[in-house]
Amino acid sequence: MLDHAVAEDLLPLSTEAAGVYLFGENFEEIIGLLRRGITAMAAAEPFRRLTIPPVISRRTIERAGYVGSFPQLLGTVHSYPGDGRSWGKLSPLVESGGDWYRDHTISDVVLLPAACYPVYPTLEGRELAGPARFHVDATCFRQEASSETGRLRSFRMVELVTAGTPDHCASWRERWLARVGEWLSAAGLSVSVEVADDPFFGPGRKLFQEAQRLQELKFELRVAVSGDTVQAIASANYHKEHFGEVFEFTAGGEVGHTACTAFGLERIALALINAHGPAVRDWPAEVVAVLGGTGA
Ligand code: 5GP
Ligand code: ZN
Repeated sequence: MLDHAVAEDLLPLSTEAAGVYLFGENFEEIIGLLRRGITAMAAAEPFRRLTIPPVISRRTIERAGYVGSFPQLLGTVHSYPGDGRSWGKLSPLVESGGDWYRDHTISDVVLLPAACYPVYPTLEGRELAGPARFHVDATCFRQEASSETGRLRSFRMVELVTAGTPDHCASWRERWLARVGEWLSAAGLSVSVEVADDPFFGPGRKLFQEAQRLQELKFELRVAVSGDTVQAIASANYHKEHFGEVFEFTAGGEVGHTACTAFGLERIALALINAHGPAVRDWPAEVVAVLGGTGA
């Protein structure tokens, strides 16, 4: 997974599925440190903490517009609706490598593509008296081409999410973009903050991406995760009225706006390993303190 030679037991183990890794204790120590650091940064605001399952209602993802915009990334969940007798005809196909799944049908859940999606329908139909804030932690899935270091299909994401008025969401996003940049820089990472776009799919792709860039709706914090491979390790997003319109919540009598800050935990861990080496015990004490939220 990483270019440079380091002790094998310190690094994620690959599996039969490309872009799906097993993580050992050392890697999880870094993930734990990041979770503590994010929690410490979030302490000044009244976030509601939610642990998010790795699946989400298919209807929510359809309504949220994800299928329309990113069908290539979505992992669907299928199951077998038939009876035992008809399965008898299909079961030999498992051994022979045939298409035993040919009668499977799509279920009412899909794999969660981003940690913040489950939050928006919880606001459905509400008038927000003040900003809503959520701190969510989830395992996400995206059907990514996964040959590049750090481009996983199954990865963990912590997000801070807010909903409220346009002014609140715009300034909240700006503040968190700056805060996350400071945190990562103080941890010894060389961060570049860039206007970005999402990988929209299909004929309207370019237009959507240009509009997103023009309005500066997405910023990415990009860092080397291995050698010359630079990737987004976090992002700060302003969705404007998108989710407020779909889920019909309001703030100050107008359609509610939303914003989120996303931390890609494996990528941040890889960037730190790339900068400081694989074992936390060998990292500078101030880096560990800053990351875990106990430093300056
Ligand atoms: P976004 O919703 O901005 O695309 O993703 C939020 C964060 O999740 C990214 O900044 C990145 O850190 C992480 N992320 C997104 N896609 C992948 C991926 O394919 N692999 C890994 N490891 N992390 C990802
Ligand atoms: Zn989000």
